[in-house]
Amino acid sequence: MTKPKPEPFVVEGPRKFGAQRVLRCSFCWKPRSAVGHLVGGPGEGPNQVFICDECVALCAEIMAEEEDN
Ligand SMILES: [Zn+2]
Repeated sequence: MTKPKPEPFVVEGPRKFGAQRVLRCSFCWKPRSAVGHLVGGPGEGPNQVFICDECVALCAEIMAEEEDN
């Protein structure tokens, strides 16, 4: 007797990102280990964005320059 398998829920995304997922800055793509701080932004799981302290400093610099003009 073969029991019909119920349709499984769709698993989102490839599983290889699971436990070994390296968090990276979404701007410069440096891994967490290469930067001082990694600040998490909006989004969840693989869709979450991050920004590192270097990029925050760079953005602050750019914005400060823009305000001067
Ligand atoms: Zn960065």
